[in-house]
Amino acid sequence: MLSWLFPSTCELCGETADMTICPDCLRNLPRIPAPICLHCGAPTAGQQTAPDRCEECAGHRRPFYMARQALRQTDEVMQLIYAFKYHKAIHLAQPLAELLNELWEKTPHLCGRTDWVLVPVPVTHSKLYIRGFNQAGELACALGRCRKLRVENLLIRRETGVASQTRLMASARRLNAMRAYRLKRPGLFGRRRNYPAHLVLVDDVFTTGATARACATQLKKLPGVKEVVVLSLVRIGT
Ligand SMILES: [Zn+2]
Ligand SMILES: [Zn+2]
Repeated sequence: MLSWLFPSTCELCGETADMTICPDCLRNLPRIPAPICLHCGAPTAGQQTAPDRCEECAGHRRPFYMARQALRQTDEVMQLIYAFKYHKAIHLAQPLAELLNELWEKTPHLCGRTDWVLVPVPVTHSKLYIRGFNQAGELACALGRCRKLRVENLLIRRETGVASQTRLMASARRLNAMRAYRLKRPGLFGRRRNYPAHLVLVDDVFTTGATARACATQLKKLPGVKEVVVLSLVRIGT
């Protein structure tokens, strides 16, 4: 009824649509092309290393079991992310989560179980105050509604007073991220017996994987947590 009275328009083509990105535009957004690194999700076409691992991942162990991203970085994709994140276009969470859901359907490891719990990458209190929402949290909630999965916000926090990742080089990102993400109220953990064993960390972008590694390292300290899979909307730099 509401959508009949106030039809929305597609953020990309401007056509009237049920969703804020119309099905055609959603279909046309650039997916990550196969083949990909089975560990971090990077496209591996043209690389000389083993076909199932990218050069970065060959020989490295990472705290997350696997990472996957839905889209490649293009101007159009970054405009969408920018609008979603900085212009409070919170209505984009649902169509963007559809892309994460599509990625989920294409990932047998995720489809193999139904007890996943979604954990959004946290933002600092000041960002939450300025933006009014956590973009990763909105994505996780929309994906959770779609797949009927629980969202857990109480496990990790983003420290204030640690620089934003955006402007840092790769090596600085790793150190910075390790300082920036901490378990929430670690003193209380002993009182809770069962943490969910299978977690999916949800974020909007995946750049060097530093944030994913830092969050997964913290999450795996929780008793009972067996694995962390990282699901992001966009892979930066591909
Ligand atoms: Zn459209
Ligand atoms: Zn890789």
